[in-house]
Amino acid sequence: RLLPAAATGQGVITYLSLFTGPGTAAKSDPPRELHLILVDNGRSRILADSSHREVLDCIRCGACLNVCPAYREIGGKGYGSVYSGPIGAVLTPLLWPGERTSLLPWISTLCGACVDSCPVKIPLPSLLVRLRRREVEAGRTPRAERIGFSLSGLVMARPRLYRIASRLLRLFLRLGGDSLLRGMGPAARLLRVGSADRSRRPSREGATLEKR
Ligand code: SF4
Repeated sequence: RLLPAAATGQGVITYLSLFTGPGTAAKSDPPRELHLILVDNGRSRILADSSHREVLDCIRCGACLNVCPAYREIGGKGYGSVYSGPIGAVLTPLLWPGERTSLLPWISTLCGACVDSCPVKIPLPSLLVRLRRREVEAGRTPRAERIGFSLSGLVMARPRLYRIASRLLRLFLRLGGDSLLRGMGPAARLLRVGSADRSRRPSREGATLEKR
């Protein structure tokens, strides 16, 4: 009952299959055998990895997709896998590690809405951060990104420089930078998650965090 309640708010699932095993002698022509095939598909490997095995608790309800701001922006196909949304960003690179899936853990703002909605409380933001760390430590992140983070680290360590950079960024967005990002593909569109759709954000009260 957990799955339909979390997925669509239903009390009971729409499609339910009950397997009762081989037939009994009471029937005229009972099936004599029941074959159950479990496809491992890399899950034993994930189970052996204590830092990510919680992802296997997933019951596929999809609640984390419905609340994810990144999923709302890029849609299911952007994940390039049958598993989309926050759970897909964790599960896909674990099932199929490689260059094609290595950037998926970055499709998240780490807002935490997914873990709040998850009926089995999988700590998706923590798992995403662990996967990001794995990619960074393996040196598999794009060069431009490594340079970008080094620069932002330099800026954030210097309050005066940070204030100037924040003002320049606000000016950039005010002068139409937002529409520029809109035409630059999925990666740049993620930058817009926090700024593009103002109707989805709570109104800001008082001074900015930096000013406070
Ligand atoms: S991670 Fe949680 S919320 Fe997302 S599909 Fe799995 S069980 Fe549902």
